[in-house]
Amino acid sequence: MSFLEALQAGTFPFFHEQDRFRSLLEPKTPPELEAMAQAAHAQTIQFYGKTVRVFAPLYLSNECINVCRYCGFSRSNPILRLTLSPEEAEQEARCLAEQGFRSLLLVAGEHPKWVSPGYVASCIRRIRPYFPSISIEIAPLETEEYREIVDSGAEGVVVYQETYLPQAYSSLHLSGPKRDFAWRLQAPERAYRAGFRRIGIGALLGLAPWREDAFALAAHTAWLLKHAWRSYLTISLPRLRPAAGGFSPEYPLSDREFAQLHCALRILFPQVGLVLSTRESPSLRDRLIPLGVTLVSAGSRTDPGGYTGAGRERLHRTIGGRSEPPNPMESAEKAEEQFALSDERSPRAIADRIRELGYEPVWKDWDECLTSAAST
Ligand code: SF4
Repeated sequence: MSFLEALQAGTFPFFHEQDRFRSLLEPKTPPELEAMAQAAHAQTIQFYGKTVRVFAPLYLSNECINVCRYCGFSRSNPILRLTLSPEEAEQEARCLAEQGFRSLLLVAGEHPKWVSPGYVASCIRRIRPYFPSISIEIAPLETEEYREIVDSGAEGVVVYQETYLPQAYSSLHLSGPKRDFAWRLQAPERAYRAGFRRIGIGALLGLAPWREDAFALAAHTAWLLKHAWRSYLTISLPRLRPAAGGFSPEYPLSDREFAQLHCALRILFPQVGLVLSTRESPSLRDRLIPLGVTLVSAGSRTDPGGYTGAGRERLHRTIGGRSEPPNPMESAEKAEEQFALSDERSPRAIADRIRELGYEPVWKDWDECLTSAAST
């Protein structure tokens, strides 16, 4: 049974602890939540020790052909857009490497003309000498297209389903290929077949009732742990932040519920990585680390060219998907960011804080020679 079939049928025979997970998501008293936090903390220490992996996102492009109601890059937003050339991507990557990063997440809007698999592969080849670990967060691809990306040197792929509730999904994704719920849902399986070593999934919290999305996300996790077991699985739980377009979440969840969800996932899936982005405030991020977060982004910019100003002379505004000619006045500005950040501390300040909390920030946990050695 594929995960899509299971989701459509509403039965998850491979998710053995579904009742326990549902009960972990129910409203809790403060002592019950404290007990969950302690259990989550103990699981994290047992599986990961006191380490937190640090990575940075590098936005390649904010061009997008989809209309997603909640995203600043949505085709419907008349924003300043930019696609970095591979040389400019390298310039941004070098800046991040000089700050100590060795793990990079390449992010791009979904636009087959600007962000083709060949383009992404070219960027990866330029960046590869600086980064032993490169992941991508781009439009879902065919297996063969994913293989081209793997061959160019990427080891990880991230595809968030946004919401697992098909009705909510179709009301939020108004046009473009992203309307195809099933195609997106099956992207992690295609990526696994193509040979990615790390697979990241997630839901954008706030789009739909969070407990329902969390349950489906946990079921998806259980399915992938069974069927994509050779890859390391990570879960991300981004919450909606302000962005161009002014969308406001219909189903916000509180910091307390957010922490509870992290604990529930950590208790049920001790082996899975939990990712926390700079969407969240410094104080909340610091408090979540002992509860099971194992990967954090730091010093992030969510606009292409955001680290060095690369490519700004080519900024252009699109209106309803049509490009306006470059405006010299706008080249002094920057490309639109995908969403507003909340944790604006520098990478060094975040690393120092991780140490103060008693954890070791890990900038590099992977090197190609590990697979070469394993295969000889
Ligand atoms: S969420 Fe992704 S696909 Fe949708 S508009 Fe934003 S960048 Fe494009």
